[in-house]
Amino acid sequence: MNLDLNRILDAGVEVAQSVKVAAVDLADKGKRQVELLNAQNKLARAQRQLGALVYSLIRSGEENRELVDKYVQAIAAIEAEIDRIKAQPEFTPAAASAEKAERHCPQCGAEVEEDALFCHRCGAQL
Ligand SMILES: [Zn+2]
Repeated sequence: MNLDLNRILDAGVEVAQSVKVAAVDLADKGKRQVELLNAQNKLARAQRQLGALVYSLIRSGEENRELVDKYVQAIAAIEAEIDRIKAQPEFTPAAASAEKAERHCPQCGAEVEEDALFCHRCGAQL
């Protein structure tokens, strides 16, 4: 009788622990996803700024190697950060893309890229 009770209690503790682990794992995946998106946004911003800087320098016939180098270093650092986030073992691109909401054309219902301006099937503006 006592033994059974212990077994039941043990089983209860095990279930509670696995539920807790699953919840933490999910929260961790979400955090990793947010980290990755933030880093990718940061990368896109830095690349855009570097592009604008180089464009304005070339256009005005100037040089600012120091500032360009700073941007290049910053971009390299962000890329390394993205690699680090992606290399974390629990990260699976399949799971990440499954979480991403699909976007559809309002005209024809074709699945379209998240950032597409026009539908690839019917040409409707998105
Ligand atoms: Zn369409």
